[in-house]
Amino acid sequence: MSAETDLAARIARRIRAEGPLSVAAYMAMALHDPQAGYYRRRDPIGGGGDFITAPEISQIFGELIGLWCGDLWLRIGRPDPVLLVELGPGRGQLLDDFLRATATVPGFRRAIRLHLVEANPVLRAAQAARLAALSPETAVAFADDVDAVPEAPSFLIANEFFDALPVRQFVKGRRHWAERLVALHDGRLVFAEGGESALASALVPAGLRDAPPGAVVEISPAAASLAGAIGARLSRHPGAALIIDYGRCRPAIGATFAAVRRHRAAGVLDAPGLADLSAHVDFAALAEAAAEAGAAVYGPVAQGRFLCRLGAEHRLAALCSAASPERRSALEAGVARLIDPAEMGTLFKAMALVSPGLPAPAGFERDEGEADG
Ligand code: SAH
Repeated sequence: MSAETDLAARIARRIRAEGPLSVAAYMAMALHDPQAGYYRRRDPIGGGGDFITAPEISQIFGELIGLWCGDLWLRIGRPDPVLLVELGPGRGQLLDDFLRATATVPGFRRAIRLHLVEANPVLRAAQAARLAALSPETAVAFADDVDAVPEAPSFLIANEFFDALPVRQFVKGRRHWAERLVALHDGRLVFAEGGESALASALVPAGLRDAPPGAVVEISPAAASLAGAIGARLSRHPGAALIIDYGRCRPAIGATFAAVRRHRAAGVLDAPGLADLSAHVDFAALAEAAAEAGAAVYGPVAQGRFLCRLGAEHRLAALCSAASPERRSALEAGVARLIDPAEMGTLFKAMALVSPGLPAPAGFERDEGEADG
């Protein structure tokens, strides 16, 4: 039996033994089962994988994030050493562009100690190889989660990390809410509903509780708890976190839990371990948890707006001036994809968590018509 069918069978066995699973428990098993979880066995990113991410689309993404950190590092008094913590670094492309761009910030690269939080052994190997080639003098440590990273002055980057954290779903019944569960029917994984209860209703964001019967909401306790842990670290040591992901500014009705396989939508229950599973990030929930833990919160701002404020178009023009016509159109197409509201420019958002008392980070100035959605 292959590892994949083995994972579906293992999930079925667990349901027979313990009863239906929450959507979050299903998602955690499908993504992180030690033998066959989606994020344990493969490189999911790029043309040969299942999805593509901003750093893989344009070098400008990692460069501007590097300069965003470098600028703040200078303004907070150049702590040395400073930890650069990346959650889910993928193929290491963002770090590659980050480190190259920040060579222009005197002393910054020498001060950086890299800590990579990565669950996937295949990607860990790719990240280590890339960094060894790029910057052999930069020390790299891997961690399974952020709690294992030492506390010190730090910058933390998370691009498309929070969307992979498990979500729970609730469905409005006649009076109360009920948790949506993953159950078995004729040996197949299906959605089912737990009983309506006041307890389930209490877990639904207050502003949404009066929704009509049939409404669905998602919450991610894992995402809120991680944002709280990051906020708490920032309240003890100076630094900032930059979270970029697709999602919404406030909680909303509607299920966003979805599967992607080979760049196409797939059924979330169809092939656990073989498809990427993710859900929209609720930035308000992250902001609330981080602020409660003591961090100052900036944004979210639409990704397109954020990158333009950091100078995406100027950087593009500089790169294009020295490029061949083919290279120029590839560079332009990449940046357009990141900033165009019809592509990633609005759905993706940036939010910063900053230690209390530090100056505001670049790109989060308030103006008319802030990001929404
Ligand atoms: N930031 C990268 C990759 C995004 S894909 C980019 O923008 O290209 C999500 C990344 O997070 C992958 O590296 C994946 O292996 C990692 N990941 C997902 N869930 C994780 C978890 N719970 N703990 C640690 N790493 C995780």
